Amino acid sequence: MNKKMILLNPGPVNITERVRCALLQEDLCHRDTECAELTLDIKERLISVYPKAAKDYEAILLTGSGTCAVEAMLATLIPKDGKALVVNNGLYGEKIVTMMTTHEKSSDTVTSQWYDPINLTEVENRLNQDSTITHIIAVHHETSTGRLNDIAKLGKICKNNNVALLLDCVSSFGAEAIEFDVWNLEACAITAQKCLHSVPGLSGVIVKRSVFDTRSSAARSMYLDLYAYYKRQKQGYFPITQAVQVSYALREALLELEDMGGWIARHRGYAIYSQKIRQTLQKLGLETILAEQYYSNMLTSFKLPANYTYEQIRDTLKKSGFVIYGGSWEIKRDILRIANMGNIQPDDIERFLECFHRLLFHGV
Ligand SMILES: *Cc1c(COP(=O)(O)O)cnc(C)c1O
Repeated sequence: MNKKMILLNPGPVNITERVRCALLQEDLCHRDTECAELTLDIKERLISVYPKAAKDYEAILLTGSGTCAVEAMLATLIPKDGKALVVNNGLYGEKIVTMMTTHEKSSDTVTSQWYDPINLTEVENRLNQDSTITHIIAVHHETSTGRLNDIAKLGKICKNNNVALLLDCVSSFGAEAIEFDVWNLEACAITAQKCLHSVPGLSGVIVKRSVFDTRSSAARSMYLDLYAYYKRQKQGYFPITQAVQVSYALREALLELEDMGGWIARHRGYAIYSQKIRQTLQKLGLETILAEQYYSNMLTSFKLPANYTYEQIRDTLKKSGFVIYGGSWEIKRDILRIANMGNIQPDDIERFLECFHRLLFHGV
């Protein structure tokens, strides 16, 4: 394959040559000071993506994908004598429910249909009925449908009830607003290979620093214990061998984000792309799954157009150099998803939309 594929799947994303070249730096021992400096630099830059978080929060880096970060966050931060309420309206909410069972955490769930918003009324009811709930866990951007959940309202509920919020921000960190203090956010899970435009291999959890001083770890896992990482990473070291070359790339991707104007600039860029994709494909007759105002800026879900299977559309577009995404689980047969994260140029979006037009009207 010599043609560059444009990845319109929700991560891993296309990276720039700048980030790709960063992967090719010298070999390093993970116990050397150069490596520790690299880690400390990444931690500092990560926490500064949202400047308001810099003071009271700590970025913990993990070697693993986004799921690793979400699982480490829950395993470490839901206390043995605590209880969590999981707010679930999609695939990533389902995964959190499974993790809670796996780690034998005490939890209840407020579930909505995948195409529906999170059920805030029910969250309030449960909090009124059950004073043992210490944490609420939710997904910021539910990538399975493209819905940006109403965390502003959920966060307000958390603040008013003095309940800590844990968020899966794996597909939103770096491109959507995150209000750390206002939402009573105790921690959020993030990853390198989505809105941060790096390669897969490193993820992280942004944790309120006071947690480490006032509670002990609840993790029943050695690898996923954030306290162990917190302690060693004060000096820039990991308790295990981290993904060293991937760290070079992540630092470069963070520098690149700073150079382009930070998360707000990335947010604006994504907004232009996602609106263009929605408007053009709607003109071609496709229907979106959600109403316009509920979408994030990085992904749109569409009903499959009549007389096509997802595989036909995927394979035809792939021949033209574009990778799109389907549905998961129970909505597998119903939808297609088009993400617009990563190093994508306006001209790539234009060509993609032309290809989609050709596919619908000429079958190729
Ligand atoms: C992609 C994603 C994950 C999982 O990340 P992996 O890197 O695939 O493990 C978790 N949550 C959300 C919301 C995601 O979009």
